This record gives sequence, structure tokens and C-alpha cells, in this order.
Amino acid sequence: MMINNVTVKRLGPCGILVYNDTMNYDLLVIGGGSGGVPAARVAASKGLKVGIIEKDAFGGTCVNRGCVPKKLYVTGSEFASLFKTSASYGWTLDSTPQFNWNTLKTTVHNDIKRLNDIYNSMIDKSGATIIKGTATFQSDTTVLVGDTTYTADKIMIAVGGKPYFPDISGIEYAISSDEAFLLESLPNSIAIVGGGYIALEFAGIFNSLGVDTHLIIRKDLPLRGFDHDIREFMLKQLRDKGITVYTESHPTNISKTSHSLELQLNFKQTISVDHVLMATGRRPNTSGLGLENTSVELTDSGHIKTTKLQETTCPTIFAVGDVTTHAYDLTPYAITEARDWVERTYGTGTHHPGDTVVPTAVFSQPPVATVGLSEEAAIVKGFKPNIFTSTFRPMFYSLAKSNDSTFMKCIVDTETDRVLGVHIVGKDAPEMIQGFAVALRAGATKEQFDRTVGLHPSSAEELVTMREPTR
Ligand code: FAD
Ligand code: NDP
Repeated sequence: MMINNVTVKRLGPCGILVYNDTMNYDLLVIGGGSGGVPAARVAASKGLKVGIIEKDAFGGTCVNRGCVPKKLYVTGSEFASLFKTSASYGWTLDSTPQFNWNTLKTTVHNDIKRLNDIYNSMIDKSGATIIKGTATFQSDTTVLVGDTTYTADKIMIAVGGKPYFPDISGIEYAISSDEAFLLESLPNSIAIVGGGYIALEFAGIFNSLGVDTHLIIRKDLPLRGFDHDIREFMLKQLRDKGITVYTESHPTNISKTSHSLELQLNFKQTISVDHVLMATGRRPNTSGLGLENTSVELTDSGHIKTTKLQETTCPTIFAVGDVTTHAYDLTPYAITEARDWVERTYGTGTHHPGDTVVPTAVFSQPPVATVGLSEEAAIVKGFKPNIFTSTFRPMFYSLAKSNDSTFMKCIVDTETDRVLGVHIVGKDAPEMIQGFAVALRAGATKEQFDRTVGLHPSSAEELVTMREPTR
């Protein structure tokens, strides 16, 4: 019940109505993930009255079923090849190393719990009020959680997304990345549908752990949107690592037998596996949010139409993170959007994250890392780029006589000499790219790359020693 924008909370002693004016906030944040938590914390630290509504565990997708568990599973799986390589460095293992899926699952789960507690205490310390439950909009300024109504001058939507499954017969037998982290035991075989981030990362995890891994990609190459050379190099690497890759393929049916799942592909081939993992993209969590009670407009895919300043079509409602129409569904991007919005709205800030110099990595095996424009995007934007490439075997593998190699590519504008893009596939690629993102953000030229003293011996030095253009 609302009276003058103040919610009637409960009946007090002797039946006197208690008006709980703490229900009206300067800022209400819906969703306690990568975007919502910094929005609430930074705003609260400025002395604003902030409430943050979360229906599940704080940390959102990234902490609970995304970046964090994924990276820990990747690291866990990488030991298999490290054990092998160690022999050429003089190590003898007394017995064959054994892997226990449930041990990894439990330790990762415990670490997530530790992070949830840290998030809770950080939000608490910031002075923001934690509201547990599912939020539904009642109007442009009103949100219902359970049977309590909250009002706010501004509302920030940061509800993220969820896995998307294509509509094929037997899809109920498939799992998403959410369930892949929680499997009861390590499967013998798995089919992974998709050629994006999640598909390649999970293919790497399962393949390295000895699972017979099948990757079903509907195009001729994985990683749509990445540089073409990177995509080609990556396809070869996936196959070299032992993953069975089906290109120009998509599933048409999944059926269950007594001991396996039968995944049928478009060209009638059937694969028998323990699990089918759909890594076919994600969709925003906007259904059930009550946005029909507001003036917020959605796209056909259910994303909130959002400007680069996080404005929606409703002047009191803003949005950050995966629920928006921005270009990058990445944790640091959601964080930057949220912080920049708070500084612009309640402080003197003028920044927004922009969209051309955003580093990103796929934690596949080998990993891919990239910042700036691909060769194809540079050409579309009207540049006539010089292309520098290098393929080499990192020193780490030289004693092991392994075929693992690294591919690097630099895109340089011929007119200004500015470096437009840096792309790497190979060991340590994600660790290398962050520093180059700073250089690109600062507008570094190829001459400045060339004049930078290399760090020897390292793979990264190759990026400052590529003298002659490949084309
Ligand atoms: P989320 O973090 O999803 O947070 C949304 C929150 O809103 C959730 O906690 C949810 O419970 C809550 N919520 C939803 N609806 C309501 C409601 N009605 N009421 C109350 N609460 C609600 N990004 C990277 O940068 N690096 C990586 O390595 C990486 N790995 C990933 C791996 C996987 C498997 C996945 C799935 C994603 C990964 N991402 C990674 C992407 C990253 O997790 C997301 O971009 C990021 O979490 C988006 O943040 P967000 O705030 O928009 O949403
Ligand atoms: P992506 O968009 O990266 O990939 C989805 C894949 O599924 C594409 O290869 C797409 O093919 C394919 N696909 C879509 N629909 C179908 C269909 N009906 N049948 C067959 N294949 C289909 O999504 P993800 O789910 O992998 O990840 C979601 C987002 O989360 C990422 O885009 C990324 O922003 C973020 N993320 C980031 C990570 C990181 O930073 N390391 C890790 C994991 C996720 P096509 O290419 O042909 O369209």
C-alpha cells in the first residue's frame, strides 16, 4: 500500500500504522552481479540512499556460474598437459597423476562461497541496503519484492542473462554451462554445440581432462566476429588438440537411449555421447521483470534498448551489463559501465567505456586474446591496414618437442601508423593482451611498438619485433 510515495510497512503496537519511509531510495539497483554491485557500492559511498535487490547469490553470473568457476576449471584441466611437459624438464612422477572431478567441483564451490561472503560484506560496508528477492516493476519508479513495494528516484536494471537453447526435438536432454559445472561425474564423452566463447572454453576443459569431445559449429569457422586469421588458426589448434570438430553443422534432434544421448546433425550423422552441452548464446533476463508496466522498450531479442550513457527509453530507469544492447557481454565492461554511470550521474564524471579498445580473451586451450579491430573490421571502417603476423613455438614447448605454437597479428593504419588491433592465439595470450590494451587506448603507433625494448626471453617480445609487414 502506498501513501504519498511512502510504503505502509506494518501495523505497529496498538494497531497504529507504521509508515516505513526507508522504502524510498535515491537509487534502487536490480541485480547483484558484475554491473549491479559496483553501481550500488559506488553510489552508496557517495552518501546516497541505495538499495540493491538480488534473488540469488551476490556476484551474479561471473562469480557463481561464469568467469570464476570457468577459469578455475580451465586451470584444473591444464595440469594434464603440464604433467606431460614436465618430463622433458627432468621431472619424474612416481605414479600416473589421477584426476578427481568431485574434488575440483567441491573446491571451486567452496571458493565461490568465499567470494559470495566477500561480496555481501563489501555491499554492507558501502552502506547500501541489501534486499533479497525477485524484483518486478510496477511503474517507472516502483518495484515489488515479495509483498513489499519500493520506490526510487532512479532505478538501475542489471539483471544479466541466461543460456539460450535452440528449439529442437529432445532439447530437454541438453545441459547448459550452468549444469556443466555441476555434473555428478566426469563424462566419458560430450558433444558441445556452438563455436563461441563458452563452447571453446568447455571443449578445452573436457578435452584436456580426457573426455572424448565433439564440437559442433554451424559456420565454417569458430569465433564469429574475431579476426579471420585467428579463427582459422584456432580451428586447426582445436583439431590438433584432439577435439572432433564438425563445421557447417547444427543439431536437429536429441534422443535418449538407456546408456547415452544420440545427437543427430543436419547432414544425418549421429553422435552418441554422455552429455550434450548447448553453448548457443545467451538471452537477457527481461521476461517476468514487469517491464510492460514501465515505458522501457525492448528489442526483439528481449534486450533493453540502451544508449551508450546507459539511458533506456524511460527517464527514471537505466540499464547496464548483459541486459543492454551494448556490444560486449563481459564482466569488466559491465563494471565500467556501472562506475562511469554513477560518476556521471552523481559526480563530475564524463566518461563511458567506449567500444573500440576493449580487450577480451577466450580461455580455450590454447587461449585467444584480442584488443582493437580485426583486419576485416579495419577494412570495413575504411582503413588500408598493414598486416604484421608471426607464428612461432614458445620456448616453454621447445624441450617437449611439442607442436604447440603461438600466432600473433598486428593491424596498423598505413596513414597514421597507429596500431588498430593486436590478436594472439597461444600460451599466456590473455596475460599479454592487457598491457597492449593500454598502448592501444593511448593511441600507440607501430613506430612506438618498434622502439620499445623487448623483454627477453618471452613470447610478448615478438609483438615489438615484427618489423616487416606480411601484407
Ligand atoms: P549478471 O552478472 O548475470 O548479474 C545479474 C544478477 O541479477 C544475477 O545475480 C541474478 O540473480 C539477478 N537477477 C536477475 N533477475 C532478477 C530479478 N528480477 N530480481 C532480482 N535479481 C535478479 N566475462 C568475462 O569478462 N570474462 C570471462 O572469463 C567470462 N566467462 C564467462 C563464462 C561463462 C560460462 C558465462 C556464462 C559468462 C562469462 N562471462 C565472462 C560473461 C560475464 O559473466 C557477464 O558478462 C557478466 O556477468 C554480466 O554482468 P551483469 O551484471 O550484466 O549480469
Ligand atoms: P557466443 O555468442 O559467443 O556464441 C554462441 C555460439 O552459438 C555461436 O558460435 C553461434 O553460431 C552458435 N549458435 C547460436 N545459435 C545456434 C543454433 N541455433 N544452432 C547452432 N549454433 C548456434 O555465446 P556464448 O554462449 O558462448 O557466450 C555468451 C557471451 O558470454 C559471449 O558472447 C561473451 O560475451 C560472454 N562470455 C565471455 C567469456 C570470456 O570473456 N572469456 C567466456 C564466456 C562467455 P554463429 O557464430 O554462427 O552465430
